[in-house]
Amino acid sequence: MWNRSLWEQEHQAELKEAFYNQIGCGGECEYKTPIRRIVCEGCGKVFYTQVKVKKYCNDDCAKLGYWKHQRQRRLEQRRDMVCKGCGKTFTPKRADAVYCSNACRQRAYRQSVTDKSKWSK
Ligand SMILES: [Zn+2]
Ligand SMILES: [Zn+2]
Repeated sequence: MWNRSLWEQEHQAELKEAFYNQIGCGGECEYKTPIRRIVCEGCGKVFYTQVKVKKYCNDDCAKLGYWKHQRQRRLEQRRDMVCKGCGKTFTPKRADAVYCSNACRQRAYRQSVTDKSKWSK
């Protein structure tokens, strides 16, 4: 397998230059921590950082990536359900959805109202 850290070690001079360019210091600053080349998981841009665990080039991308990740997780959690109204299988838009559509929900609601009025008589 391709060894990323080894590649980074061998290309430190190059990476440092790119990093300095990125942060806008013309070689006057000196960083002792190795520079890593990261592809931003938010916008796909290549950027340079010293932070080992960094995945995003800026805070906006981190936020974006976080939401993307959350949405992905929600999608995975969603399972097909059987509608309580019509018995059809559907993919709920919300985790607590019970009916496939508003029509089914309203029909069920009307049903329950009629049932209640029947009981009260
Ligand atoms: Zn980005
Ligand atoms: Zn339904």
